[in-house]
Amino acid sequence: MSRVRLQKAEAIVLKRHDYGEADRILTVYTRQQGKITVIAKGVRRIASRKAGHVELFTHVQMMLAEGRNMDVLTQAEMIDAFPRLRDDLVRMTYAYHIAELVDRFEQDGHPSPQTFQLLRDSLAALGDADDPFVVARYFELRYLSLIGYRPHLFECAQCATALEPGGAVFSAEAGGVVCPACARTVSDGLRIDDAAFRVLRFLQTREIGVILHLVLQPGTRGQVEQALHGFVRHHLERELRSVEFLNGLRRVARTVDLAPSARARPDTVDAGAGAERSGDPLSELP
Ligand SMILES: [Zn+2]
Repeated sequence: MSRVRLQKAEAIVLKRHDYGEADRILTVYTRQQGKITVIAKGVRRIASRKAGHVELFTHVQMMLAEGRNMDVLTQAEMIDAFPRLRDDLVRMTYAYHIAELVDRFEQDGHPSPQTFQLLRDSLAALGDADDPFVVARYFELRYLSLIGYRPHLFECAQCATALEPGGAVFSAEAGGVVCPACARTVSDGLRIDDAAFRVLRFLQTREIGVILHLVLQPGTRGQVEQALHGFVRHHLERELRSVEFLNGLRRVARTVDLAPSARARPDTVDAGAGAERSGDPLSELP
């Protein structure tokens, strides 16, 4: 009888899909191996004890057995389910967004302890922050730096002269903010105001604990999001499904009095861009 090789993996579940009668294939980001795909057998049966431990976006200690095509999940023990995420569609959508970014940018089997930690901390922060929007933008800026696409925000992305406040132009093509002289040479320049410029710099250089209570004005939110989504789209050469989903949610929130974000404070509601609406009727008051 051949011995099955077992190994531990500390993982975050990025994606899953059903397979066969009762199995599920999970895409996970692990501290030890980076992104990998594992099969969880029998996990869709009602009596499965592993099922609750491998929900989307859970932080879980796994025991894996080497399989022919992919590793097989033999045991799963929950470390953190991030419960504050789960009752809120907007927070869950942002969790889906950061998981999708990692899934799209990562290749299998390239571990990065910093990426694992950023992913874990950001999922926790998405449950705790006053405004999950800020955490999503923080994640994008920090993650882009970790994978070698750090947007230039302090020196011109094209000629490297130090950038002055006021009248910044963001260019995904150039790799960040460009100086006024270089702004005339880029084809995808996006003018951002001073507040948006300062928020981008702030999120790129601060620790996650500092941003949990950050609240942005609607106009600033729109510019920061447009700059970063343009940047991500430029590098992935495609739109993210989570972005389309979030835009759909926003359209619904504009037309119906739907209330996805129960804990959002009134001043985090982006009425101008038709963003998240608060579930608390009191927050609709001026
Ligand atoms: Zn320049």
